[in-house]
Amino acid sequence: MDASDVQDDLVNVLYTEDQIQGRLRELAAQIETDYAGKDLLIVGILRGAVMVMADLARSFSRHLEMDWMAVSSYGSGTKSSGVVRILKDLDTDISGRHVVIVDEIIDTGLTLSWLTSNLASRNPASVEICTLLRKPEALTMPVDVKYVGWDIPNEFVVGYGLDYREQYRNLRDIGTLAPHVYS
Ligand code: 5GP
Ligand code: MG
Ligand code: MG
Repeated sequence: MDASDVQDDLVNVLYTEDQIQGRLRELAAQIETDYAGKDLLIVGILRGAVMVMADLARSFSRHLEMDWMAVSSYGSGTKSSGVVRILKDLDTDISGRHVVIVDEIIDTGLTLSWLTSNLASRNPASVEICTLLRKPEALTMPVDVKYVGWDIPNEFVVGYGLDYREQYRNLRDIGTLAPHVYS
């Protein structure tokens, strides 16, 4: 695949770089208000949330800490088992801390539902979720998400951290791929 053609594979741009940056500034402002006077740890979920974390974090004017987790979900074949494996755990002890999990997209909700209860069992002061995108039609697990960039239709999107076969994460916009990519 020719890397110089990567932007051409987007058939439909859902959100431009400018729109994404604008929405992240709004979310950061909301979080700043909600956590005024409290310490804050934001936890990015590798690898998809790298771009969101980098831009969201830089939209804050307050102090905060950043940590990362990597997880893998099992059960993609026939039925979701609900089993999530931690590939990289936090380096931070979150007991007594206010935690906001940052992710790029919620699809079925399986990953974040599991992750939220996993982190909640470590006695943090609070755990909330911030996601750039959410597909309400795809949700199979109830997930209480406090901060959402946009709700989107149930279609496969790439760019801005979101991959198709590990490619397209580096696109600045978010969109859907042209059919020729899949064939
Ligand atoms: P969930 O547990 O919510 O079903 O899984 C969310 C994960 O599935 C995301 O972190 C992402 O890796 C992947 N995913 C879900 N929908 C999409 C999509 O439209 N595009 C891409 N690239 N990945 C998606
Ligand atoms: Mg993710
Ligand atoms: Mg992926």
